[in-house]
Amino acid sequence: MATLFWFRNGLRVHDNRALLKALDYDLDEKTSCIRNADKKHSALVYPVYILEPDRLKSGLIGPNRVKYLQVKTCHCREAAVDKSAGDPLSKIPKLCADYKVNKLVFERDTDEYCRGRDENIKELMKKCHVQVETYSGHTLWDLDDIMDRSGGQLTKSYGPFVKLLEKMPQPQNRFPSIPTMQGTLDPHMATDPKYDLPNVEDYLQGKEPTTIHKGGESEGLRRLDNYLQDTTRTRVFRKPQTSPIDTHPASTTILSPFMKFGSLSCRTFWHRVNEVYKKGQHSAPPESLIGQLYWREFFYSQGEVALLIPWKGYNENKEDEEKFQAWAEGRTRYPWIDAVMHQLIKHGWMHQLARHCVACFLTRGQLFISWEKGAEVFHKYLLDADYNLNNGNWLWLSASAYYTTYFRVYSPTKFPQKYGKSDGAKFIRQFVPEVAKLPDLYIFEPWKAPPSVQKSSNCVLGKDYPHPIMDAENAKAENMEIMRICYEKKVHGNCSPKEYEDHMAL
Ligand code: FAD
Repeated sequence: MATLFWFRNGLRVHDNRALLKALDYDLDEKTSCIRNADKKHSALVYPVYILEPDRLKSGLIGPNRVKYLQVKTCHCREAAVDKSAGDPLSKIPKLCADYKVNKLVFERDTDEYCRGRDENIKELMKKCHVQVETYSGHTLWDLDDIMDRSGGQLTKSYGPFVKLLEKMPQPQNRFPSIPTMQGTLDPHMATDPKYDLPNVEDYLQGKEPTTIHKGGESEGLRRLDNYLQDTTRTRVFRKPQTSPIDTHPASTTILSPFMKFGSLSCRTFWHRVNEVYKKGQHSAPPESLIGQLYWREFFYSQGEVALLIPWKGYNENKEDEEKFQAWAEGRTRYPWIDAVMHQLIKHGWMHQLARHCVACFLTRGQLFISWEKGAEVFHKYLLDADYNLNNGNWLWLSASAYYTTYFRVYSPTKFPQKYGKSDGAKFIRQFVPEVAKLPDLYIFEPWKAPPSVQKSSNCVLGKDYPHPIMDAENAKAENMEIMRICYEKKVHGNCSPKEYEDHMAL
């Protein structure tokens, strides 16, 4: 008798219901307690994490995230990674056969690709006579329960969604960390080098990780403790009042990468914040810290919602492609936009409002390039890259869904000055050295600097520093007209050139 525990997200040993189940603990679901913590286990458990080398090598994932994943994302050494990793559809049946496994356990996933893959795995397991058990764990509530509570008609608006959540029983309490895995694991897994972590260099394609952010379960828990120690900051947290230019320390938690990999449990996060809330008055969703966790829940629960908009970037237009590349590499010559893109590429994390600015710039604001192309770039570089949250937020920012006041566009020059000219300038200097010597007054718009200032700052336009790739105000005016027409037509779906011709007749 043996069980295969398949780690995917949920890379942790605290509050891990699926792992406890795989280890055969008897759980009291009401109190989240373990009834038989001292029990001796009879079955062997083989924990595995399957790397998909095709995805890692294809360049879809940047070096920072590869490195981040390699840090022991959860602190059980026994979360063995088979070096001969491959496609789970061929790997899982082989592992089951090799280890004579009769049960496969994993935490349910939230994205479409993984859900489809898991259905195929279940079919395969049926044929191999291996029992499959899956558990919800990546979200505060089981997404099926949210759907049931909505009567199958899930709202596309955040406000009513939060009202719905508030009618649900509160998120399940945290399960304790696993008491022990001793005696449960096949002992040779902990010592056999075959099961050690793979060599990350194999997947970096010669590119060095540059992120300043550390991964790992212990680090995630430490960071949560740290943030919540300041109980006033936690209680008065209002997202729009946090700042994208604060980096040391950041004004938000930077827990998203841990939440993405599940090396921090979202229920632990939720309960710990609520413990702080008991100490006094606190802010409320959508702006509060709990409100942020509800945004996460919101995007995980949504299905097809996109409005049809004739985005550019799907065909082979050279000019569009060049503009897209300039955005993706931080070369638009709008220093604020470029600084944020450099922060993304270098560190793999940016504040939400910084993400807003660059996503709006690429789509409805200036370049009118498809949000899907932007989401791909984010997916490659973000440490917290997550299919549902990334796509959901891009749909929002491009005003393809959820957000209808499409004409409210972030100014690529004025927005960072909201935080004080000198602080905004300091942020830009960190990431765009070419403009670093310009005085605060001109750093947001170098082309406005008088020739003498450009010269003394080693930033002569057209010589040391190119002109912007387009005029932001003119581009915005053109885009707003197309958006207005799309909103009048209200056709939903993903935009392809063919659909564009059929439906838009623009
Ligand atoms: P905090 O403000 O401290 O919030 C706490 C937690 O709440 C976060 O760690 C995160 O898990 C969750 N959260 C906060 N804001 C959001 C939100 N808008 N949507 C969903 N969950 C949220 N977040 C990702 O985790 N992965 C992504 O791939 C991702 N892509 C994004 C793409 C765009 C275009 C935009 C505008 C936002 C995206 N976000 C994504 C959401 C948000 O920007 C990050 O979750 C947040 O900035 C992370 O920083 P933090 O941990 O300090 O957040």
